[in-house]
Amino acid sequence: MKGGFVMTRKQDVLRAAMKSAETFAYYCAIQKALRLHRKINPWLHGITILKAPLGQSAEPYREAAEAVLFAGRRPAYNEKERRVIVDDDSSAFHKVLDSDEVRSFGYILVVVVHDFKIPPEWQLAASFIGDIEKLTVRQVRCALLNCCDVVATDTQIAEALHIGADLMWKAVARGRSFNESLRRLRSLGASDSAPAKRKSQPNARGLEDMAGYGQAAEWGMQLTEDLRDWQAGKIGWCDVDRGVLLEGKPGTGKTTFARALATTANAHLVTASLAAWQRRGHLGDLLKAMHRDFEQAKSKSPTILFIDEIDAFGDREKLDDDNRDYSIQVVNALLEEIDGSDEHEGLIIVGACNNASRIDSALRRPGRLDRFIQIRLPGPTERLLILSQYLDQALTQSQLAPVSDLSEGMSGAHLEQLARDARRSARRSGRPVSVDDVLAHLPPRVIIPREHRRAMAVHEIGHSLVGLRLGAGKFVGVKIADWFNPGDQVIELGGAHFKQSVLQRRDRDYFERENAMLLGGIAAEIVILGGHCDGGGLIVGSDLQRATDRLTEMEAATGLGHRLTFSAAADAEEADRVRRFYPRLAEAVEAGLLRQLERAKAIIVEERVLFDAMCDALVEKGRLDAQQVGEMVAAHAVSFQTVPVALEPDSYSGIAAQ
Ligand code: ADP
Repeated sequence: MKGGFVMTRKQDVLRAAMKSAETFAYYCAIQKALRLHRKINPWLHGITILKAPLGQSAEPYREAAEAVLFAGRRPAYNEKERRVIVDDDSSAFHKVLDSDEVRSFGYILVVVVHDFKIPPEWQLAASFIGDIEKLTVRQVRCALLNCCDVVATDTQIAEALHIGADLMWKAVARGRSFNESLRRLRSLGASDSAPAKRKSQPNARGLEDMAGYGQAAEWGMQLTEDLRDWQAGKIGWCDVDRGVLLEGKPGTGKTTFARALATTANAHLVTASLAAWQRRGHLGDLLKAMHRDFEQAKSKSPTILFIDEIDAFGDREKLDDDNRDYSIQVVNALLEEIDGSDEHEGLIIVGACNNASRIDSALRRPGRLDRFIQIRLPGPTERLLILSQYLDQALTQSQLAPVSDLSEGMSGAHLEQLARDARRSARRSGRPVSVDDVLAHLPPRVIIPREHRRAMAVHEIGHSLVGLRLGAGKFVGVKIADWFNPGDQVIELGGAHFKQSVLQRRDRDYFERENAMLLGGIAAEIVILGGHCDGGGLIVGSDLQRATDRLTEMEAATGLGHRLTFSAAADAEEADRVRRFYPRLAEAVEAGLLRQLERAKAIIVEERVLFDAMCDALVEKGRLDAQQVGEMVAAHAVSFQTVPVALEPDSYSGIAAQ
């Protein structure tokens, strides 16, 4: 009697699963994860591996997994054939998988933490590997009602889930209203619960536990609140940001940010990149892989879709002829996918790149990745926080203070490596890690002799003094290094930093003042040292390249020079081409540069006393801020166009002269 058997089986399974509301809710989540797989393998024959949601332990799923695998037996069912393995730290899982015993089980259901790296041989052997989604409000509502007669609204459940599913189940009891359970949960406070759960899993740290993300972290926390309000029905999807474009050097933690954001926002994470899509093969396969990732991201909600190295797609305006058609199709497909996701509620796209200027402008249009945040290298305090995290808090920030300056220029990835090396040294010597272990693994340093530092100070004070005298922006500070790492690709030995107001009127005078400031370094070397070295030129980003291109822009694209004809150049290479094409433009630029160089030299000669005082102070201290320089200017009774001021950061964009 087939129908009778099915009834019995269902009842069996339900009885086992409904032992408690918690088991039943997790049971529903597991069944959902297995839905498609069960169509082809209803009895879960072979090895089935499920990953718990990101940031959650696997243990709570044990009873539910047993209900799925053991209850509702088939005729001639042999219990010894079945095995449920639930493992949080994965060592036991490895032991079981490596043993011969496991081969005697015909049905194995494994639940592991999300970040667990499944060994390749088990990836091959498994008949199914899938993700368990986070508990939904519906699953919890249904479990509460059926297992303990508790009625709760969706908003109440969403809030309880946000505080933490594990704690929620502890607060729930038959005969207790959900309101009362929620009150108890609130009194514990979300901040006490969620991070405590995460600490055992460093990979699942949330934004609130991380350092070095500045504006990006602020945005992420804001988004988290919006998502929570949206899930609770307080705001519509139209009020939630659709995505962000992150720019930062490799190793500054863009991928880690996306992971932390997903943890904090209780969202799913799908990671993708052009390279990963390209690995699938030809154009058709690439487009299919891209589509599949977008569909996967849309299948769960909320989801963070992280697209790494989005600048690798290129800008359709700048593609060379060789692979132009191919690249255009790929960019178009990406734009279509993003547009197609726009109305999809619950999908947030985080794009990451090393250089946002290489990105197709269409990708940054409103409604696409229009929000832009730069992730900079961590500052001194952030560096110590990150180090301390990777040293498992074995050393406090004050103990690590000697590392602060010496780790300047290191990214989160470098600091992680440094902590790993220090821990390894200490382990091998059988003692706790110390600050000396950290200092011993800092990159090699070349100390710059005093006479070189003096020459560097002459150059930087040249920029500072000329910029201050002419009012080429607001002066922020000037610094020179006393050491450098010979392994670095680009070595920055110093810089003078000015900020420009976005409200500034950009007339001819503005361009010329900025130019004189950029040429101030070379001018000072000529006046004080009798000639200049190659440090002001050589590379894109140098004083000479920037001064030349700014004048080219003024002459060729603004009408402020000697002609009205418009010729734009997007980068240094194009600017160079434009100059070659119009020799008279090149002549005008050269004449302009010489004029500003002479102007800068004259200022340095006139302000020689102040110049020498600033130079001495910079060699002595290594850096001077706006206030220190302001005091020196006042002491020398010089009347400058602008007095250095501390700034409100948002209203200015920076220019730094090296
Ligand atoms: P990116 O995507 O920018 O290249 P990743 O996110 O892959 O960088 O980071 C590289 C490594 O550096 C990771 O192991 C990450 O944990 C670490 N890392 C980078 N930034 C941070 C940070 N702010 N805090 C902690 N770890 C970081």
